[in-house]
Amino acid sequence: MRITVAKHAGYCYGVNRALKLAHEATEDSAKPIYTLGPIIHNPQVVESLMRQGVNAVQSVSEVDEGTIIIRTHGVDPKITQAAKSKGLKVIDATCPFVAKAQQRAANLVKNGHNVVIVGERNHPEVAGLLAYTNNKAIVIESAQELDSLSVMERIGVVVQTTQSLENLASIAKGLLNKTKELTIFNTICSATSQRQVTAAKLAGAVDLMLVVGGKNSANTTRLAKICREKNEKTFHIETASEVDKSWLKNAEHIGLTTGASTPDWILKEVADRLRSFIIPR
Ligand code: SF4
Repeated sequence: MRITVAKHAGYCYGVNRALKLAHEATEDSAKPIYTLGPIIHNPQVVESLMRQGVNAVQSVSEVDEGTIIIRTHGVDPKITQAAKSKGLKVIDATCPFVAKAQQRAANLVKNGHNVVIVGERNHPEVAGLLAYTNNKAIVIESAQELDSLSVMERIGVVVQTTQSLENLASIAKGLLNKTKELTIFNTICSATSQRQVTAAKLAGAVDLMLVVGGKNSANTTRLAKICREKNEKTFHIETASEVDKSWLKNAEHIGLTTGASTPDWILKEVADRLRSFIIPR
């Protein structure tokens, strides 16, 4: 049995940065320390931070003192302001790629565009982007939703950073029928596109593909979907305990990749469990 790990697996830049800021906060910042929502979409990492005294809250109203960390997905700037007004120390771990998309969205509104956000309606990053357009943007998840969209004079597009290029391309194509002036900022982050391209390539070359990451992680779920299109024997798992021995039947070559918020130690546990099925300990 051969195991190949995709070239771009493990934490992305934004997640690494956010976790570094959280760890630094445990040493230097005013206690107690909170994150606004889980800092990343990986339950095992969130649990580990809880053990270090960093707890997730859903709203600034739950916090009266200490430090609050804004997660990689970013938030409505009014929320940051509310935290500061309460006297909380705010650590902004919004990924710089997300911050760039937020600024693009705000500028499009300022310049008189009707803004379309390509992304998942219920994703926190999209909620943040929407806030930067004063909630004027229209969120589109797939090209099928364009049928009900009116024709508009000027349309400006920003994209949730973890979307696939294919989805953006199909929506952009449909939008050409809805306006004469279309401005597109491809705000998909390079870490996401590289991860998707290398995972798809690997999935197409192996007998079994495992995508490791939080079941609540949008980028991991999308990665699994992309891999499944190349290899129907693709499974999205969160931890090593989910690896099913029966998957290994006729699987000589196994591919592994991870979502952007999956720590290396979980990937290692998955690889170790796969090997344990072959080499008795
Ligand atoms: S996936 Fe991209 S945008 Fe999201 S946190 Fe990582 S680097 Fe930032």
